[in-house]
Amino acid sequence: MCGIIGVISRNEQSVVSDILGGLGCLSSRGYDGAGIVVQQGASFHLHKREGKLVNLLNSLDENITGVCGIAHNRWATHGGATDTNAHPHMSSDDSVVVVHNGILENYLSLKAALLRNGFHFQSDTDTEVIPNLIQQALEDGAKSLVKAVMDIIPLLEGEYAFLVMSKKYPEEIVAATYERPLILGVSKDKYVVGSSEIALVGLSDKVVELGDNEVVSINANSVSCYK
Ligand code: GLU
Repeated sequence: MCGIIGVISRNEQSVVSDILGGLGCLSSRGYDGAGIVVQQGASFHLHKREGKLVNLLNSLDENITGVCGIAHNRWATHGGATDTNAHPHMSSDDSVVVVHNGILENYLSLKAALLRNGFHFQSDTDTEVIPNLIQQALEDGAKSLVKAVMDIIPLLEGEYAFLVMSKKYPEEIVAATYERPLILGVSKDKYVVGSSEIALVGLSDKVVELGDNEVVSINANSVSCYK
């Protein structure tokens, strides 16, 4: 079983060790790849590896820091267990990044339409359509990251929980869920969102499970929920 975690600092401290600790907690479940992306100003620092978490840890630059990040333990359903297929996945223009649990049943038709519109793909996963659809929604005029996510949700068939970050909307994580669990945690220092309470242990004082079909926008100051 795969797992996802996202953390936003509320006090400017780096979230990297919290995220890697959360991934470690999620590792008691089976997985075949792991990855993390953190935002530093206008840049994303993304690292991902097939196989066990230790492969990712060995590949990380020791100086990686950031106040906002998302990460994933992958259990491959579409595409083999390779570095390229591990999450996170970026949009064609590298502006949107996503981690995803679940299956998108209609990804082939979504991918075909995106290819016709000039988007390109690097992985064999179903997931990679999500960041590209969000990039497209933003280009089509969505006025916020959460609006772009809400615009694409009617297009998705299947089960999912996913987390998104965008260079255009720094230090924000948008979370969406349909028939897959996502738990939100809060402490005075950080907001955390993860696919299991196990990932939030020690990182949050209060937790709440998101409702099905819920979309949540999280930044350092607030959490906003949309249905
Ligand atoms: N379907 C996606 C993939 O194969 C996500 C799998 C998962 O839930 O880890 O990459």
